[in-house]
Amino acid sequence: MNFIDLKSGHSVEGDEIKAYRSDLKASKYAYLIAGVHGDEVEGVFVLSKLFEWLKAEDDIEVPLIVIPVLNVDGYRSGTRVNSHGVDLNRNLPAASWTSEARDTKYNPGPSALSEPENKFLDKLFSKFAPSVIITMHSWKPMLNTNGDCQKIAELLERHNSYPIVPEIEGHPTPGSLGEYAPEKYKSPVLTMEFPVLTDDISLKDIWDENRVGLENLLSSDLLNSPE
Ligand SMILES: [Zn+2]
Repeated sequence: MNFIDLKSGHSVEGDEIKAYRSDLKASKYAYLIAGVHGDEVEGVFVLSKLFEWLKAEDDIEVPLIVIPVLNVDGYRSGTRVNSHGVDLNRNLPAASWTSEARDTKYNPGPSALSEPENKFLDKLFSKFAPSVIITMHSWKPMLNTNGDCQKIAELLERHNSYPIVPEIEGHPTPGSLGEYAPEKYKSPVLTMEFPVLTDDISLKDIWDENRVGLENLLSSDLLNSPE
C-alpha cells in the first residue's frame, strides 16, 4: 500500500512530527498513532513494524493516517511528557479537561490544546476526519475502549489475550484522546496498552504477540467507516 507524506507538524523543540496518509480517497480515515508518551517505546516499535508490513502489502483497503511518533521530543529524551513537561494525553480539549493533575506526570498544561504536538494532531483530525483511532501505549497489557470499538478489540483480544477494559477503575483520564475524539469527532478510540519491557519481555516479543491480530485487523473491513 502506498503512503503519501503529509505536511509535518513541529514539536516544542521544533523537530518534525511525521504523518502519512494512505493513497486511498475517503471521507474518513483510521488513525494509527504511537509515541504520545515518549518513554513508551513499546508502542513505537509495534507501529514501526506494522507500518513496514503495510507498505509492503498490496491488498489493504483501509484509508489510513499513520503518526509513528507524536511526542518526538519526549521520545528523543525518553520522557513521558513533552518539552514543556506536559502530558499530551491530558492536554486535549475534552469537556473533562482540568488544570488539576493527580501527579506531575499527568501535567495537563496551562490550557487545553496548549501544546504544538496536539495542535498538529487536532489539525489532522479536522482535515482528515477519523473513523476510528488506534493509539499505542504501554503500561499493563489491556485494550481500553472509548466509544464503539468492541469488535476491533475482540479481534485483537483473540490473538494477544489482553483484557478489554472500557473504563479503567480509579484511573480518570481528563483531556485524553479517548475522551476527546469520541466527543468531538464521534470517533471511537482504542488505546492499546502493551506490556512494559522487562528482562523477560523484549520488543520483539511484544510485536510477536500482536502481529497476527493487527495484520488481520488491517486486512478486515472493521476499520472502514460504515458509510
Ligand atoms: Zn501512555
